[in-house]
Amino acid sequence: MNSLNAGQPVPAGPLPARRAAPRSLTLVVPVFNEAEAVHHFVRRISELFAAPGGPAIEMLFVNDGSRDSTLEELLSLQRLDPRIRVVDLSRNFGKEAALSAGLDVAKGDVVVPIDVDLQDPPELIGEMIEKWRDGYDVVAARRASRKADSWAKRVTAGWFYRIHNQISDIDIPENVGDFRLMDRSVVEALRQMPESRRFMKGLFAWMGFRTATVEYARPERVAGTSKFNGWKLWNFALEGTTSFSTVPLRIWTYIGGSVALLSIGFALYTVVKVLIFGIDVPGYASIVVAISLLGGLQLMGIGVLGEYLGRTYMESKRRPVFLIRTIYEGAAADALQGESRP
Ligand code: UDP
Ligand code: MG
Repeated sequence: MNSLNAGQPVPAGPLPARRAAPRSLTLVVPVFNEAEAVHHFVRRISELFAAPGGPAIEMLFVNDGSRDSTLEELLSLQRLDPRIRVVDLSRNFGKEAALSAGLDVAKGDVVVPIDVDLQDPPELIGEMIEKWRDGYDVVAARRASRKADSWAKRVTAGWFYRIHNQISDIDIPENVGDFRLMDRSVVEALRQMPESRRFMKGLFAWMGFRTATVEYARPERVAGTSKFNGWKLWNFALEGTTSFSTVPLRIWTYIGGSVALLSIGFALYTVVKVLIFGIDVPGYASIVVAISLLGGLQLMGIGVLGEYLGRTYMESKRRPVFLIRTIYEGAAADALQGESRP
């Protein structure tokens, strides 16, 4: 049973007629220091799509400035398998930018961003294609279980979704990552997005389209280690929240107002007290408390302002999201070209 993502604008009415099988499928695979994992990935995909009659496969790796031998490994794999294309970025731009680069270059009728570490099981793609043929434009994969993640990651991820969805205009469905199948029209829409700070989960949710979900249990990494530590994830959460909500900015109006009201109350109380009892102790403690409390609040407020100002500043530079050094085309690239591009 598929479920539509709650809280998202889904057009009413019946789905359009069932689509024919896709002629081509692009897997967009961002890689950063994954020399070991790429072999496992290519082998699994080759096994999975070995049967004749399926869509033409394009494995589009985006080398996100790896500092190990990932690029060499990819190029040697490409000599054996012409379905591999490699986009080499000029440095490490981060996963979001690498995905954007991949979506720009992808040629398939349907496009699937997928992690190289096989934590996004490629076996799910068959099911996704079926849903796409049913008429859905986006088929997202939702983790039914996050057992492979640490306790801390699970708990903080839960907080992130709760807070984000409370204060943002859009709802990001919980436990849905970048792993999803997208119709060509969705990819084109995504490429139209002008912002240079790209929080993919938010952009996906913002776009809408007819969306279906398939569930899976997230397995452990096949090789190597996670590229996201706690600090990176914290920044990622900040990025996500400030990209889609101005509540953190507005909240300071209310905090400021409440503190001001309290201060007026306290001032009145002091005046009355002085009138009745006269001046007693100099009131050192209350002054220090008031000053430090207000100082702290003001610094926090300025920090939040800075967060948004910084974002506006970066956005206003209109710098490209990524820079491509070279695209290494596999021999199959020519066959795909022209067939699927609108
Ligand atoms: N990745 C990337 N650039 C980065 C960090 C990660 O392209 O700066 C890729 C990485 O190679 C992998 C995917 O993003 O294919 C997901 O990373 P990872 O498995 O480390 O994240 P986790 O599954 O732990 O959230
Ligand atoms: Mg992973």
